[in-house]
Amino acid sequence: MVTIGILALQGAFVEHEAMVRRLGAQAVQVRKPEQLADLDGLIIPGGESTTMGLVAERWGLVEPLRAWVRSGKPTWGTCAGMIMLADRATGQKEGGQTLLGGLDVTVNRNYFGRQNESFETWLRVPALGEAPIRAVFIRAPAIVAAGAGVEVLATVPGRGEDVIAAVRQGNILATAFHPELTDDLRWHALFLAMVENPVAVA
Ligand code: GLN
Repeated sequence: MVTIGILALQGAFVEHEAMVRRLGAQAVQVRKPEQLADLDGLIIPGGESTTMGLVAERWGLVEPLRAWVRSGKPTWGTCAGMIMLADRATGQKEGGQTLLGGLDVTVNRNYFGRQNESFETWLRVPALGEAPIRAVFIRAPAIVAAGAGVEVLATVPGRGEDVIAAVRQGNILATAFHPELTDDLRWHALFLAMVENPVAVA
């Protein structure tokens, strides 16, 4: 049985835990660097990326998490978690904020900000099969640029352009929305499949 850690510093970690268990995997809340050693995969949940970064700094988790991602361990960031994994972010708090990086994308932290704080829509995600998938966006970021090694899994209409809402790069999965707030287990199943069959990363 695989063990999935859910970073439990702040945000929507309980919901992820429940989804992982429904798929028959073990789920643990992660708050300490030493817990990373026992995990097969890690989920960084949604919440507030500035706060999550601050708490991670305070609890000595930033460098251990960077090392985890860099070593190619399967990691999935949802919403604020996707921001944490981005190599580059725009719309950050003044003075910047702590990012873990590892994912070769530029995120706009509050892309859907003012006009469209929260919304739900249906996404077409070929990697998850024919049936469209419901996506809940809450003060959601969007990926506005992605490197060549990044596979786009879903896009969503943005401000006069389509923006990227889900990607995969090596063993990293990132979604701008909150799959843990729906009843559809397909994203969690995809991540578990990535954990069970990680790709070799240089
Ligand atoms: N935009 C938020 C941030 O900057 C993320 C919102 C979310 O995770 N629902 O962290």
